[in-house]
Parts: sequence; C-alpha cells; structure tokens
Amino acid sequence: MTDAALPRIARTIADVRSQVQVWRDAGLTVGLVPTMGALHHGHLSLVDSIAEQVDRVIVSIFVNPTQFGEGEDFEVYPRDEDTDLAKLAGKSCHLVYAPSPDTMYPSGFVTSIRVAGISDELEGAARPGHFNGVATIVAKLLQQTRPHKAIFGEKDYQQLVVIRQFVKDLDIPVEILGGTLIREEDGLAASSRNAYLSENDRAIASKLYQTLQMVRGDIKNGKPIRQAEAKGRAALINQGFSEVDYITARDAGTLKEIDDLADGASARLLAVARIGGVRLLDNISI
Ligand code: AMP
Repeated sequence: MTDAALPRIARTIADVRSQVQVWRDAGLTVGLVPTMGALHHGHLSLVDSIAEQVDRVIVSIFVNPTQFGEGEDFEVYPRDEDTDLAKLAGKSCHLVYAPSPDTMYPSGFVTSIRVAGISDELEGAARPGHFNGVATIVAKLLQQTRPHKAIFGEKDYQQLVVIRQFVKDLDIPVEILGGTLIREEDGLAASSRNAYLSENDRAIASKLYQTLQMVRGDIKNGKPIRQAEAKGRAALINQGFSEVDYITARDAGTLKEIDDLADGASARLLAVARIGGVRLLDNISI
C-alpha cells in the first residue's frame, strides 16, 4: 500500500463530463485509459505512457457485460475496486471513472457498433460478438469522457486494430495510442486472467512467449511462414498446452494473412493457446 492520496471517483456521466469540461476550459489535455479493473502492471504502464502525453489522466473501470460471450467468465471476473484505487494512488491518475451497469446500459439500450471483417476472425471467430461489445463500450466511454487521447495495450492487438478502425470511420476526435505489451519476469504476458492458472500450468504458460520468439526467428531466417507457424503449433502442444486456437503471422496494420515478409511492411505474430481451461493471448512484432 502507498500513502499517496486515492484518486477521485466519478460514477455518473454528468460528473465525468463536468470534470473534463473544467480541464478543457483551463486549456488542459485529457487522456483516457479504459480498463475492466483487476489492475496489474500492464494497465499501470498504460497510465504512465499516456501521462507523458497529456495533462490529465482518467482511468475507467467497467466490467463490460456485452463483450463476454455465453459461458465466459463475466460473473467471476475479478472485481476489487479498493485494491485498484490503491494501485492508482501515486500514479498520474487524476480521476477514476467507474460507472454502474445501469449508467452504461440503461433499460431500452439497443445500439451496437460492428466493425465488419476484422471482427469476425481470430478472437472474433472464437468469441462471436466480442468486438461488437468492445467497440460499443469504447465508443460510449469516448463520448462520455471526450479525451484528446486514449490508450489501449498491444496485449490485445486485434482490439487495438478494431478500435482504430471505428474511431476513423465514425470521425471520433481522439488520438488512439498503442501501449507496449508488458510481461512477467518469465515472459508471460501480464493478464488479469493469469490468476486462473494453477501453479503447474503457470510454469507451462511462459513457453508461449518463447515459442513466439522461436517462430519469429524461423520466419526471419527465411523459413516459409506456414511451415514456421506449424512448427510453433506443434511445439506448444509438445510443451503441454491442450489446444492452439491460432498462431499466425499477419500484416501489422490490417491483420490480413501474409505469405512472406514484404519489404518495408511490418508484421505481427499472434497466438492463442489454451491450458487448464484458460485462453492465453500473446503477440510479438516480427
Ligand atoms: P482489460 O482490463 O483486460 O480490458 O485491459 C485494459 C487495457 O489494458 C487494454 O487496453 C489492454 O490491452 C491493456 N492491457 C492488458 N494487459 C496488458 C499488458 N500485459 N500489457 C499492456 N497492456 C495491457
């Protein structure tokens, strides 16, 4: 725990809007860090990053029901506001926006934002409707808080691509920043869901990052991409993962499949592997 003061909490749209208006009237720039709480050092690094670029930082905490599918972990998703606030104390967080479910989805709410194409593959194929829920809630948070900038982690790389697309398509006046993926010491991508792993599975989980690095090395050394992906998939199963949803090299901007590393284009290697009923997401640049 820290002695630093806890950030102020706004729970209504009116409250967050009036605070942002005061800041804007004073000529201050505002940044938003959307989260679902259960904060870890990955989230806190987003706060640090955006704080370098704006005068005032809002962290939103809302476990968004519409981005969870049936049978997913919405009910048991970790919620501990006091611990989250303590973690934000001493950080450059000037306001926490923690709206109630009724504030975000009042009765009669029927609208959904759908980003065609990209929302249907990879995470979208595994979790139908997930990105509609993400796009809709992020659009609402952007309208409610009117930030100059908002930051999203590269941990959820496809989510970042989806958000950039609808912000552009809907002319939302905000700059979207991507935050570096933060890892635990052994390389496992930091995630609120890592808490679901048993000790044994937690040790295996770190092999996902190592395998991504191996596949990247193979591709950079000229191995055909499909062969490198297949080798990575086999390596994950050999190391104890129960299933590999995908391990795939994509264009970093569009997430379209690539057959080779085109000169000058940047590529991203994305993977999801399952262990002990937990889906682990990871990705690295190639
Ligand atoms: P979540 O609370 O899981 O919805 O995540 C909130 C934000 O934190 C999203 O933009 C995530 O991409 C980002 N995030 C989660 N884990 C990490 C991580 N390990 N490194 C960087 N950003 C992360």
